[in-house]
Amino acid sequence: MKALILGNGKSGQSVFLMLEKLGITAQFASSEDINSGENLKDEEYTDRLFQGLSFIVTSPGISPSSPILKTAKKHKIKIIGEFEFATTFLKGDIISVTGTNGKTTTVSLINFLLRNIGKTVHIGGNIGIPVSSFALSSKKEDISVLEVSSFQLNNIKKLKTHISAILNITPDHLNYHKTMKNYIRAKQNITKCQTKKDYLLLNADDELLMKNIPKTKAKILYFSTKTKVVGCYVKKESIYFNDNFKEEKLVSLKNIKLVGSHNISNILCAVLAVYLETKNKDLLCEICNFQGVEHRIEYVKNINGISFFNDSKATNISSTLVALSSFKCGINLILGGSDKGYDFDELFAKNPKNVKNIVIFGQTKQKIANSAKKFGYKNIHICKTLGESTILCFNLAKCGEIVLLSPACASFDQFKDFEERGAVFKKIVEEINVNENALTSCKKNKQV
Ligand code: ADP
Repeated sequence: MKALILGNGKSGQSVFLMLEKLGITAQFASSEDINSGENLKDEEYTDRLFQGLSFIVTSPGISPSSPILKTAKKHKIKIIGEFEFATTFLKGDIISVTGTNGKTTTVSLINFLLRNIGKTVHIGGNIGIPVSSFALSSKKEDISVLEVSSFQLNNIKKLKTHISAILNITPDHLNYHKTMKNYIRAKQNITKCQTKKDYLLLNADDELLMKNIPKTKAKILYFSTKTKVVGCYVKKESIYFNDNFKEEKLVSLKNIKLVGSHNISNILCAVLAVYLETKNKDLLCEICNFQGVEHRIEYVKNINGISFFNDSKATNISSTLVALSSFKCGINLILGGSDKGYDFDELFAKNPKNVKNIVIFGQTKQKIANSAKKFGYKNIHICKTLGESTILCFNLAKCGEIVLLSPACASFDQFKDFEERGAVFKKIVEEINVNENALTSCKKNKQV
């Protein structure tokens, strides 16, 4: 058998090794064929490329309109995503989580809660660990906890997941999916192959999701921070479970470390999934020891009464809005990055009143500034770099306020990824004490 892999990043490299172990000869498609497709116009070239080819494996993020995929479809060559290909080899229960925001936090918490269960737990998928890196070594008594992106779900046909969850749906990745309808359909695909022995967990607080409940054979359970539902909800600072027959207290929410009501939603989902999988309440009290995940409203440091938070993972408007609603104090907000095609009016129309200063940098700076002005914001500052923005924010902030990097944009205009952007921000903050300008201005601020 022969396979062609599109994309030679982490997923591509990992599926290459998996195919090798399966005795399938694999090679990588050239970036020319993936992106421009000039050579594919030559029939002899394509015949040679596709000769004896059993299937194509795509890495997540490869556009469905890539020229090589279009040509392969014409040649009736089977196309499968790395995620789907690898999951078909997984043994043991699968718990999978999708949604626009909160996937990594929820999947990490599920993994954290399951770590004392005495079984092997694999974590993977969109979280940065390709499923192909552990699929072949999984055993039937193991549990796999998978983060699934809309890219990975787009054309999926065979994902057999025992517990699947949709956290929320807000506009994102529209440059890839083109329409909201396509994006919603991709998310709904998570339950496509579930049976009546399986569970689908849905966030009852998410209006768009409630309007688009997927058709499924699985038993649907809900989670809500606002109302009593069949599933998990909050009552008297604790999480309760109700399965239509009886209500029981699962775990207290006192002493949790995560900030913001969106994280209560993530915790509810994780607790519900772990409880259904294990029926073990004792595991759940560990929620108060979960510190959260790096780059998600991550506390960095307090300098002269000003706290810095790194929310570099906020690459869309809804996640920036939840970060803003997580704080009651004045916020000096750093926004901007590469353009994902958003209309930033949505960010400012909600009018977060505690935003004291908006400091913008990156490709989207003018677009964001125009929207902010439209909604009456006055303290708008445009900078060139994240460094400049951070120092300016620090200079503008008053004691008791925070500086929040929650950019509402992707990072690719100036950084490798959101992780690099977050790391750079933290480094800048760490170095502020030795930055003469910042120190001088800080003293100035303190005098005010
Ligand atoms: P994902 O893996 O889906 O991108 P993360 O857990 O990495 O989600 O969080 C991404 C961003 O979304 C962070 O800025 C975080 O603060 C925010 N966020 C986390 N959970 C939620 C939620 N349930 N609703 C909205 N935003 C959220």
